Amino acid sequence: MSINTHITMGVASQKYLHRTGGWLSLNPMNSSPVPRRNFIRCGALAAIGFPFVTSLTSAARAEENDPRKLGFALVGLGGLSTGQLAPALQKTKYCRLAAIVTGTPSKIPVWKDRYQIADKNVYNYDTMEKMADNPDIDVVYVVTPNALHAEHTIKAAKAGKHVLCEKPMDVSVEKCQQMIDAVKKADRMLAIGYRCQFDPNHLECRRLATDKVFGELTTIEAGFSRPITATEWRVKKELAGDGPLMDVGIYALQTCRFTSTREPIEVTAKFGPVTEPDKFKEVEQSVEWEMTFPGGLRTKCQTNYERAGGNAFTVTAERGTFGLNPAYNYNFARGTRSDGQSINLPAINQFAAEMDDFAQCIMNKKTSKVSGEEGLRDVKIMLAIYESARSGKPVKLA
Ligand code: NAD
Repeated sequence: MSINTHITMGVASQKYLHRTGGWLSLNPMNSSPVPRRNFIRCGALAAIGFPFVTSLTSAARAEENDPRKLGFALVGLGGLSTGQLAPALQKTKYCRLAAIVTGTPSKIPVWKDRYQIADKNVYNYDTMEKMADNPDIDVVYVVTPNALHAEHTIKAAKAGKHVLCEKPMDVSVEKCQQMIDAVKKADRMLAIGYRCQFDPNHLECRRLATDKVFGELTTIEAGFSRPITATEWRVKKELAGDGPLMDVGIYALQTCRFTSTREPIEVTAKFGPVTEPDKFKEVEQSVEWEMTFPGGLRTKCQTNYERAGGNAFTVTAERGTFGLNPAYNYNFARGTRSDGQSINLPAINQFAAEMDDFAQCIMNKKTSKVSGEEGLRDVKIMLAIYESARSGKPVKLA
């Protein structure tokens, strides 16, 4: 079936995905590299548990200052940093929250008090360069709007820090390449915040695919959507790059690449109708796309900002199906297989796992599996999806 025959956004697309065996949920989702740090001299690290606390006890503070942990600076204290990353840092083995970067002075006392952050470890976006003189900070975690990622990553690299950057890496190939080049020039490491690549149930789906438990893969259907308000930076092209594909559709794209361990060779895409023109003046409201992979695998994905829903994927192989639903919630995914078995490995904190993995990559001088190059690949594919949606023609990928 050609993409044009089924890409009609809204109810029609949900019906299509259901009809074709997909089970997309309609439920809402709810500079030294470290050589100067003592932990490197200590050799292999012991696994140190760190209790989750919202207000640090003195014992926890002592552990928090453990020199064997990498000091993280969070850049941008919005929803993700506040609700997920700072709490997750308290659960990591190899990381600690050492510093903050914010443009909102009223947030400073709250964060200082909650996480015992010293005055000297508080920065704003214009003073990030001064981090070069601060040995408390090893890693800068960039959590600002998409189109500011390159600017903040490059500032951190120039200050001699490793960088973990939220997805999408940035909004153009040129800026992503500048990020890779800046971090390389500083002899630091770069990783992108693809939390699902650390989730045991996503990894299990990848194993089912690579071990060919149900035979060769034939199709993958994936979707992730969420509603947004008209006041968010997400509706401004200058800050967001574009719409839901850059924000949440990227998870569906990641599923296709990560689960199949293949790279797409062609994309075909179509924008859905704009039903809220006042809100979606600058970015798309919805998009559906198909990708062709080597070996005949075809994938069908959708994303939108209209409503909560589409938080799942289904993989179809020669002798059965498997997938996750919900797939993309924070720290929780589960699913089923067509042979009746469940995919329900114990949940982990995906963000803590992602940060610990990066810390271990830095300590062991090993390239992250969620490297800058991995982030750049997604940006190239997303730009090809937009090109196809605009031209109405398939776009080949190199
Ligand atoms: P948010 O709006 O809640 O926070 C953004 C922060 O950036 C705010 O503190 C804001 O003050 C700051 N900021 C700095 N310069 C700004 C500017 N010029 N305009 C607007 N804000 C500015 O957004 P968020 O949901 O925390 O998203 C931040 C990044 O994290 C985005 O790149 C997003 O894609 C990513 N994200 C990832 C996940 C995930 O699951 N990995 C989840 C949510 C967001």
